[in-house]
Amino acid sequence: MKVLVTGGSGLVGQAVRRTCPQGTEAIYISSKDGDLTNYNTCNTIFEKCMPTHVIHLAAKVGGVLENSKFVGDFFYKNMQINLNVLECCKIHSVKNVISLLSTCIYPDSGNVLHPKDLHAGEPHSTSFGYAYAKRMLEVQSRAYNQQYGTKFSCLISNSIYGPNDNFHLESSHVVPAIIRKVYEAKLSNSKLTLWGSGTAMREFTYVDDIGCAIWWSLLSREDSCTINVGTDKDVSIQFLASEICKILDYDYSNIVWDDSKKSGQKERRSDTSRFHQESGIRCVSLNNGLKLTIDWFNRNYPNIRGISL
Ligand code: NDP
Repeated sequence: MKVLVTGGSGLVGQAVRRTCPQGTEAIYISSKDGDLTNYNTCNTIFEKCMPTHVIHLAAKVGGVLENSKFVGDFFYKNMQINLNVLECCKIHSVKNVISLLSTCIYPDSGNVLHPKDLHAGEPHSTSFGYAYAKRMLEVQSRAYNQQYGTKFSCLISNSIYGPNDNFHLESSHVVPAIIRKVYEAKLSNSKLTLWGSGTAMREFTYVDDIGCAIWWSLLSREDSCTINVGTDKDVSIQFLASEICKILDYDYSNIVWDDSKKSGQKERRSDTSRFHQESGIRCVSLNNGLKLTIDWFNRNYPNIRGISL
């Protein structure tokens, strides 16, 4: 067994490395090893690595702001990467592929999110380019399974956070953005403005739990149907900010919420019951996950992706 991990340098890729079962041979690649939007480059990587299994994480990823500003780029690049990677997996007879999708690609319905409803409506307008490209990854996996008898499966995760995240002020997700802003407001002893009303509800999963979910799915699951993975607890962005303030010892009453800025979907609750029942994986609490992340942030600031790197 030889596992190729695309996107191996990213937030999730590094957690997949930390949680890799002992004795498993895995190769981690990033854009430095080749641009997967280019079919020939992608094929050369597969010829060189000859993987039997693939964990496909490489993607153009960003927060609400970037996703809505560069909606066409998010669509085109993610379509290219996914088309090339799965096609190469098929050509090179890869036995098993796990691709990671995000709950932000679900229809903007307000219902509890379940994989059977993935294509049952428009995604939220803020990230529809990214969302449709990721939905097509699920379509391509299913189509290849049906026609070629492959075992390509998709996991859908809610928001992921942890060490090695992107902390850039324009392109980061909500957890790293708030950690950085609170940390820097405390350093400069100033008040802090956060985007949106803070009332949107979200689920946040610590990244190593996603690493474990991916390995469980690759090594132990029999079927290839799409399932949700991650925590089953949702919290408001205001609650998230208050937890971060407590850990960083910053006065929460100094925060002003700017609701002229986009907040994205109001609510996004996913049904992760099947994942919890079948895998037995118990996700760490938000408080413990935030402590681990902030501890890493404190030790590495400012030599962090999106700050000085
Ligand atoms: P990151 O942005 O941290 O990492 C992206 C990875 O993809 C990096 O290794 C990057 O390489 C690589 N990459 C990007 N473009 C290319 C390219 N053109 N060719 C080759 N490699 C490329 O993302 P995450 O770790 O957060 O996300 C991983 C996966 O998880 C994605 O598929 C994402 O959609 C999914 N996901 C993420 C969630 C989240 O909250 N972060 C939630 C749910 C799903 P390099 O470092 O060299 O740029």
